[in-house]
Amino acid sequence: MPSQSSTVPCQYRTGKTLGSGTYAIVKEAIHIKTGKYYACKVINKKLMEGREHMVRNEIAVLKRVSSGHKHIVTLHDYFETSHNLYLCFDLCTGGELFDSICAKGHYYEADAAALIRTIFEAVKYIHDCGIVHRDLKPENLLFRSKAPDADIMIADFGLSRVMDTNKLSLLTEICGTPGYMAPEIFKKVGHGKPVDVWAMGVITYFLLCGYTPFDRDTQQQEMEAIIAGDYAFEPAEYWANVSDTARSFVIECLTIDPTSRPTAEEALAHKWLASAEPHFVPDP
Ligand code: ADP
Ligand code: MG
Repeated sequence: MPSQSSTVPCQYRTGKTLGSGTYAIVKEAIHIKTGKYYACKVINKKLMEGREHMVRNEIAVLKRVSSGHKHIVTLHDYFETSHNLYLCFDLCTGGELFDSICAKGHYYEADAAALIRTIFEAVKYIHDCGIVHRDLKPENLLFRSKAPDADIMIADFGLSRVMDTNKLSLLTEICGTPGYMAPEIFKKVGHGKPVDVWAMGVITYFLLCGYTPFDRDTQQQEMEAIIAGDYAFEPAEYWANVSDTARSFVIECLTIDPTSRPTAEEALAHKWLASAEPHFVPDP
């Protein structure tokens, strides 16, 4: 009964389901006292058994990055009952970038560049805070409102990690969403911030043509294609209106060797983004 309201401890009433992911259901929630709307991520403790540290980690990371940047969702509140954990965020009513790409077919190059520049600025901020997101994909990028030029927001820090130093390769566990995962994750040689730049390359490709670069019949083939960097700007008719500058940006983000891949700062200096207007709504 997804549309039925229920009372969340203390002060919220939950409403319709906004989305769901691996461990969580996200519901619209109204703060009864103020009448303000939020998005409430409801995490079932039973499902998370043995992985409670993931939620603690998500909260710790959010405390570090959220409210520090306009394009990162803010965590407003956190509480638990015997069954669930609740994380209350800014409500993004414009839906996922994923659905927006699917509805449009693909983005025009100038619009894609503006969006990617804005997201990359937020990624640079996250990296400067010593965090690697590790699950950047259009399902985790949300529009703040339904307006055509609404702010884009980075959400879902469930797989993110604090990198204690600036060392390049520290993390070894295999995680993420296969199509967006960098080669070094599969190779288990250790990974860090460059995995987010790779994912941004995949997202850029997806925005420009409407499909992802390493989509194959099986996950095994997909992984092999990623490790080999085997993708092309094909079929040609989908790429006819895409400039060489945009292609070179994708090629650079999809550099197999993480040590040669641009950093977020370097990607922002690429001429495809350097000339793009940022994608944002000016404050009133
Ligand atoms: P998971 O870790 O399970 O993937 P997410 O944090 O990505 O959970 O949330 C799952 C989905 O819920 C998102 O893909 C999105 O559709 C929706 N969602 C998450 N946060 C918000 C929010 N702040 N506002 C609106 N919808 C949200
Ligand atoms: Mg998610």
